[in-house]
Formats: sequence, structure tokens, C-alpha cells
Amino acid sequence: MATTLTPVLSRTWDVNRSWGLDAYERDGGYDALRKALTLPAADLVTMVKDAGLRGRGGAGFPTGLKWSFLPAPDGGPRYLVVNADESEPGTCKDIPLMMANPQVLLEGVAITSYAIGCNHAFIYLRGEVLHVYRRLLRAVEEAYAKGYLGKDVLGSGFDLDVTVHAGAGAYICGEETALLDSLEGRRGQPRLKPPFPAVAGLYARPTVVNNVESVASVPSIVANGVDWFRSMGTEKSAGYGLFSLSGHVTRPGQYEAPLGITLRELLDMAGGVRNGNRLKFWTPGGSSTPLFTDEHLDVPLDYESVGAAGSMLGTRALQIFDETTCVVRAITRWAEFYAHESCGKCTPCREGTYWLKQVLGRIEAGHGTQEDLSVLLDVCDNILGRSFCALGDGATSTITSGIALFRDEFEAHITGGRCPFDPAASALFD
Ligand code: NAD
Ligand code: SF4
Repeated sequence: MATTLTPVLSRTWDVNRSWGLDAYERDGGYDALRKALTLPAADLVTMVKDAGLRGRGGAGFPTGLKWSFLPAPDGGPRYLVVNADESEPGTCKDIPLMMANPQVLLEGVAITSYAIGCNHAFIYLRGEVLHVYRRLLRAVEEAYAKGYLGKDVLGSGFDLDVTVHAGAGAYICGEETALLDSLEGRRGQPRLKPPFPAVAGLYARPTVVNNVESVASVPSIVANGVDWFRSMGTEKSAGYGLFSLSGHVTRPGQYEAPLGITLRELLDMAGGVRNGNRLKFWTPGGSSTPLFTDEHLDVPLDYESVGAAGSMLGTRALQIFDETTCVVRAITRWAEFYAHESCGKCTPCREGTYWLKQVLGRIEAGHGTQEDLSVLLDVCDNILGRSFCALGDGATSTITSGIALFRDEFEAHITGGRCPFDPAASALFD
């Protein structure tokens, strides 16, 4: 039986002014918070654990387990920080979610904060997306006015302040500890882990850092229960998620579906590859994951199956490329991104991403040599597992997989002295 869509987070996106509090309340918004406030906080942690919700930011770490890592209250503050610094090339699910329904995120923030004993939550947003910042500020204002945030939330005795913080637009600030440094007013660079933020996070206090989609998924679990959530997805990858289809697809966009759906099924719903063209390669989880091809069309998109196929599920950013795409050019563009975004803290990534960009650029321009392919793989080898954070490793994924899958295309650039797809590319990369 074909898998169908499961619109939960995206259910009201087509409603007129879906982002307003009125629209959210008409759809049962904040009923889950009312219910949550009648339960002991520990029961909510157990509920999210039992539901099997896993971090939707990419790593898939069990959300309830992360909450339970917070040490016992010691009278000092503890924080929730929502990671809304969506920046990975191809990753585009949290921004539409916050634009279309910021209140579901705020309800999730209120429930999560109550569950973990936090009285001040932060939403750390990518700085460039001013429209999202404005929408969140307005949503927070509306929620305060209705008593969903602030002192004595809904008369429960629970106090919660929410601060929306716009960063300065650095990809590395999506790494949770760099994000915390940035939020504290410092240059955003990753911290050594452990200690994990659960133990020493914002201002060295216990902190839960959760992705937007993870937090926004909490109200529906509280409202509908553990069995309902577990009825979707797979045993180890429960529930649903936003799959972002972009690139050479007939109807790109957000497809909310159970984890374990396949790209073949998603493409059927999205009208297939554009113009009836052939699928050449795709990314299962943004530009930090290895390239997949049409051989992977039936891999269930859940954490385990994608892992077994040699990748991570990541952010479910499915970038589709058809037969007209130069794979070397696509990989070069990603390499430029990583070189630009490397924070410079560790040598393998700082120097390595620079050289990856340089060598790929000259291959794409038709000036590469056979030796350059070995150089690329050698540089990747020296970054992988030797970098301070996941950015370095992520920079190598499309390169090593791209060479393994499309070596002939790299060689065609070298032997032909130009890009076989676009001779004008020489000028671009010279
Ligand atoms: P990670 O596996 O190191 O950690 C995942 C989470 O679990 C973190 O919050 C971490 O604090 C927590 N954790 C792990 N072990 C723990 C322990 N023993 N005790 C307490 N907490 C623990 O992954 P990461 O480096 O945080 O994130 C990498 C992921 O980020 C990748 O999968 C990638 O897909 C994703 N990513 C997303 C974006 C985006 O734009 N959304 C951008 C880049 C990368
Ligand atoms: Fe910075 Fe890159 Fe090192 Fe991460 S891997 S700490 S981004 S230099």
C-alpha cells in the first residue's frame, strides 16, 4: 500500500492568515498546553520518551532522553534554547513552519519548558531571515497577551518568558554549542563536548537545545498520545516529519509524511523529476550527506535504513538533480559554501575546506589533473574524523561519494579541458 501524507504540522498552512493566534486557536491550538499543565512535569518527559520522538534537526537523538539528562533542580535557572538557525543548503523546513504556524512552536516551547522546569526559553533564529524574526516577535506578543506566555501561564502558577534572538547569519551557529556562545554575545564557535549542554549549556547552566520541528511536534504528542504518534513511521523512527523536496522536481515543497517513506513515493506525489527527465543524484539530508542515486529510490527514509545505506537521514532535505546537472559543479558549489562557513577554529576544516574549494574549482573549470582526484580524496581523509565539529565531516560527504559514483565525469572535465555540461563554467571558476 502506498504511503500517504500525514499533515500535522502543515495541516493549517493553507488557511487564511494561518500564522495568527486566532487561526491557531480555532484549530485547537493551546489545548495541549492546558492538558500539559495539569500533568506532573515528569510525566511529560516520559510521554515524549515513550512516543519515540527523535531530534528533527538532523542527528535524531531521542528528544525525551535529552530532556531527562538535565540534572536535578538546584534552585538555579535552566534553559530551553530552540535551534532555529536553519542554514544547511537544501534544508528549508523550519522557516516555512515558523512562517505558517509560529504558534505551534510557541505552544511546544511552553510545554517543553514546563516539562524541564525552565522559566526562560530562547529561540535562536538565523539573522538574515528578517521576515521570520518579525513573525516570531508578533506571535510571541500575541501569546503573552492571551496568557500562554508570561507570569502564571493560564493560571497554573508556571512562569515563562520567551526571547527571540536573531543571530548574525553564520552556518556554524546551528551547531548547538556555537549557538550558545553566540547567544551569550561571543563569536560563535563550537565548544568541547562533553560537557553537553544538558549539563552546562547557556551561561553554564543546564540547557536543552532542540530543533524547531522537534519542539513543534510536542503539542500533537500531548494532545493525541503516544500510541497515535507511534502509529506513524517505523518502530525506531516513530512519527512523521517534513520532507523538503527541492531542485529538479515538478512540484517542489514541503511534504509531511511518516518517517520511512521513500523518495520514489515522494516523487510520485510531487509529479516526478521535472520534464520527465531522469534522476541523476540526490541528497537524503542536505549537503552534509553523501549523494544517493536512482539505486536508492526505495530506501525507506528513516534513521536506520538511511544509515544502513551509508548516510544519515539528516534534515530530510531532498535535493533532486536530473541528468542535465554537472555533478562536479554541484559539488563545487557546496564546497564553496563549507569553505566560506568554516569557523576557522580547527586546522583540518579551516585549511581543508579551502583546498577542497580550490581543487574542485579548477577541475570544474577544465584545468584539473588526474592527480587532483587523489588530492581531493586525501584532503577529505584528513578532515574526516579529525575536525572539531560535524561541519568538517559534512564538507567531505558529497565529494567522496561524488567521486565514487561519478569518477568518469570528473575525469571527463580533466581530459576534455572543460566542463562537458557547460563550457562557460570555465569562466565562472577560473
Ligand atoms: P550529535 O549527535 O553530536 O548530538 C545530537 C544531540 O544529542 C545534541 O543536542 C547533543 O547535545 C545531544 N547528545 C548527544 N550525546 C549526548 C550525551 N551523551 N549526553 C547529553 N546529550 C547528548 O549531533 P550534532 O553535532 O549536534 O548535530 C549534527 C546534525 O546536525 C547532523 O545530523 C546534521 O544533519 C544536522 N545539521 C542540521 C542543520 C540545519 O540547518 N538544521 C545544519 C547542519 C547540520
Ligand atoms: Fe570550525 Fe570547521 Fe573546526 Fe567545526 S570543523 S570547529 S566549523 S573549523
